Amino acid sequence: MQNVQAKRRSHPVWEYFKTIEKNNQVYVKCQLCKDELKHFSSSKPYITHINSKHKPEADLLIQKENEDLTKQTNIINYSFKIIPLTDLQKNRITIAIARFLFKDMKSLNTNESEGFLNIIKILEPRYTIPSSASFRNIYFPDLYSSMKSYAQKELQEQSGISITIDYWSNKSQKEFLTITSHFIDNQFQIRNYVISTEHETQEHTANNTQDLIEKCLSEFIDHKSLRFFGVTSDNAANMVKTTSLLEPTISINCFAPCLHNTLNDSLIGLQDLLDKWSVPDHQIFIC
Ligand SMILES: [Zn+2]
Repeated sequence: MQNVQAKRRSHPVWEYFKTIEKNNQVYVKCQLCKDELKHFSSSKPYITHINSKHKPEADLLIQKENEDLTKQTNIINYSFKIIPLTDLQKNRITIAIARFLFKDMKSLNTNESEGFLNIIKILEPRYTIPSSASFRNIYFPDLYSSMKSYAQKELQEQSGISITIDYWSNKSQKEFLTITSHFIDNQFQIRNYVISTEHETQEHTANNTQDLIEKCLSEFIDHKSLRFFGVTSDNAANMVKTTSLLEPTISINCFAPCLHNTLNDSLIGLQDLLDKWSVPDHQIFIC
């Protein structure tokens, strides 16, 4: 056991982490951003953390790993063997693929498609792409928790935020509430974070919606001391009431649903006209 521990700790990534004990639990604390991560027996989650949050240090580690590898490889081996990728290099490619799948909203099996595998093979033949299950169970949760802790830190620095709230349904008519936060950072840049997309199974009353918003926000920020500058929603009565319960400085009715409803009403009127004039259906289409 001690050997395993020593081997694991010998990975250079451990220069940036310390094991700490808190409330009888063991955590691993990043010495760069002070994030406290869960304790794992593998170095991989910590490599992912450095690769996704601390690029300069990740570059240094890759350089160090390459130097160590070159030292270990004698000249004869070097002539006949290809130098393998280091753990950090492999992880960096994997994180880039995970980000690509996330940001471009690609399906999880994209990383198993023939064309995509061919690109990877040409770009880096030494790299073997992890399975979809590894992306789903390891890399996506790691990336999510890394992004979440980044968003938590930024949101906690704000004295108040604005939010947009919207109910919507997917193709199978499941209903969701999406909450997006907005604020201006200290560089005077507008920042937006989707706090949550929650599957709402209860009635969409103002009180239920307010509870759901507060539950989602409490994962990021102390919502009891939080001030809402602005709340944007559609014009539905429950949403207007929810907005008033949140007591923002300003409430904004989003223009898009108004336009959508206006167009819908106009087109329904147009359909009546078409029916009266008996214009054949196949000549004009209205959705
Ligand atoms: Zn860190």
